[in-house]
Amino acid sequence: MSPESRTVLHTWSVPARWDAPTIAGGAGAWFWDVEGRRYLDMSSLSECCNLGHQHPAVVRAIQEQAARLCYTTSAWGAEPRARLAQRLLELSGFEGGRVYFTLGGADANETAVKLARWASGKPQGLIVTRERSYHGASYAGIALSGDARTEAQKPLGMRGVVHVPPPYSYRCPFGGRTEQESAGFAAAAVGSTIAREQPERVAAVLMEADAGTNGIVAPDAYWPAVRAETRAAGVYLIADEVMSGFGRCGEWFAWQRHGEAGRPDLMTLAKGLTGAHAPLGAVVMSAEVAESLEMKPIPTGLTYSGHPLCCAAGLAALQAYEDERLMERSRSLGRAMHARLLEMQERHAAIGEVRGGHGLFAVVELVRDRATREPLSPWDELDPDLARLGADARAAGVCFALRGNLILFAPPLVIEERDLDHALSLLDRLLAELGQRIHEPKTQGVTA
Ligand code: PLP
Repeated sequence: MSPESRTVLHTWSVPARWDAPTIAGGAGAWFWDVEGRRYLDMSSLSECCNLGHQHPAVVRAIQEQAARLCYTTSAWGAEPRARLAQRLLELSGFEGGRVYFTLGGADANETAVKLARWASGKPQGLIVTRERSYHGASYAGIALSGDARTEAQKPLGMRGVVHVPPPYSYRCPFGGRTEQESAGFAAAAVGSTIAREQPERVAAVLMEADAGTNGIVAPDAYWPAVRAETRAAGVYLIADEVMSGFGRCGEWFAWQRHGEAGRPDLMTLAKGLTGAHAPLGAVVMSAEVAESLEMKPIPTGLTYSGHPLCCAAGLAALQAYEDERLMERSRSLGRAMHARLLEMQERHAAIGEVRGGHGLFAVVELVRDRATREPLSPWDELDPDLARLGADARAAGVCFALRGNLILFAPPLVIEERDLDHALSLLDRLLAELGQRIHEPKTQGVTA
């Protein structure tokens, strides 16, 4: 039994059932436990170890910064903080903008909402987000999300959130028959919701530009259309890039795939910002948003905002993405991974749809019947046959992220091609076994 199974309350777990190996170290796409068992990481743990485990340059930067200066508050300047803010503004093309640092993704989203409300002069303004989305597990994060796991806690969250249906073309909530139709209907719903609520009462639309852990990948036409709707209504658009940023979708920030037509007013970052080597999030805002805040006191703050150790980790992470050309690598490996999954779909009837592929991120949605699209399990219950696939993969030393009827693929961008190939070949075999299990006649009720 794990030495922490009786003392630590772990996230997203049933305490009495939590019992996991103790991780001792890692390198690249692999990590290992204290018993020496090695695991190939096909999800970058929580979609955050984009640079792999224990990236040497990031580790070194943390060590050097620790020797120099661990901490100072926001009342004082810190060298790595200044340099990181400058670099983020350059990479995003938010010239003249500003960066507010947080500790992770949920507080980045909460702060982005506060800043959008103050900057727009709508302190009580509504925020439009999507059903089936995830923006964090703090109370405001929960209120902003459309997440089945935290629905019951929603009334305790903040006021003033309106949810719209997602651009989920495989099961289009608007009855669209193509990706193009789905994208059009879902983006128009953002516009009509703003119109219904009145633009002067809406402070911002907060959404992910591409991928999400809820397994929906927006069709290409969606994000520019949402940008057009929000621009026409004079409402800020906040891109949640917590998961989709830093190469996960093939670009520094997923909205950049659409060029200026996709540029938001604010974006939130975390996870890949340091490649999870240190906890850090950020809100990056345009010059126009920053300008609106310039003479207003900022009535919010976090003790560890812009922590020098974490900022040093962030700077080293950005350098590593660049030096190792990881955006390009993510795009080419992502295309290859997506093609391989599509090829598997031809052989495995349980694969209903394969999504993603803009970078090293893909989703496989499993179905009981491909013709009727009957889900393997109702959202977001983890199907036992899929749970078994996950357990078999782990026993073979490969970790996949599973959610409901989905397999999520988000390996570190540094994964070796032969390791990716190994994981996908294993999956191919396990999908054949899953297909047999779900289609074999049930023996229930047979008497001796
Ligand atoms: N936003 C998105 C899109 C996420 O995927 C997550 C975490 O999974 C968050 C926000 C919350 O980030 P954190 O867990 O760092 O608070």
